[in-house]
Amino acid sequence: MLSIDRAIVDAIVAHARRDHPDEACGVVAGPAGSDLATRHIPMENAARSMTFYEFDSMEQLRVWREMDDRDEAPVVIYHSHTATEAYPSRTDVSFAGEPDAHYLLVSTREPDSEEIRSFRIVAGVVTEEKVCILDAGVDPHAVQSYMFGQSPATVDYECSGR
Ligand SMILES: [Zn+2]
Repeated sequence: MLSIDRAIVDAIVAHARRDHPDEACGVVAGPAGSDLATRHIPMENAARSMTFYEFDSMEQLRVWREMDDRDEAPVVIYHSHTATEAYPSRTDVSFAGEPDAHYLLVSTREPDSEEIRSFRIVAGVVTEEKVCILDAGVDPHAVQSYMFGQSPATVDYECSGR
């Protein structure tokens, strides 16, 4: 399960909308070992492609070094799909090098709504996980849950213990 603040999800979606129709990508860092995604780092898609993303190697080196210095880990690695569903492509799977990361995908193919899904990708195996979006700014106990791109109609209290 990925627990993530709505403010960070909103920032990721805004980044994805800004770069649409190219894919957007980035990282949300958090304290090493905590599994908490706290620091949003939007990055360049060096491929500037509508079907592919690739971190700029110099930027990636700098961002990963900075996380090391701050004792952080890449808790979330995100990118957008701009014409297809929010599911990892074969290329995404082959490039997924962080077995501890949550791979968050946002689809911006619909103009008015986003599909947000999260996956673990370990040794080529993709496993979808639940996403808990925490409304910390409004009410720390109000938690909405997204799964398989469904609309956020259900409140999942299991997600609120944080
Ligand atoms: Zn992709």
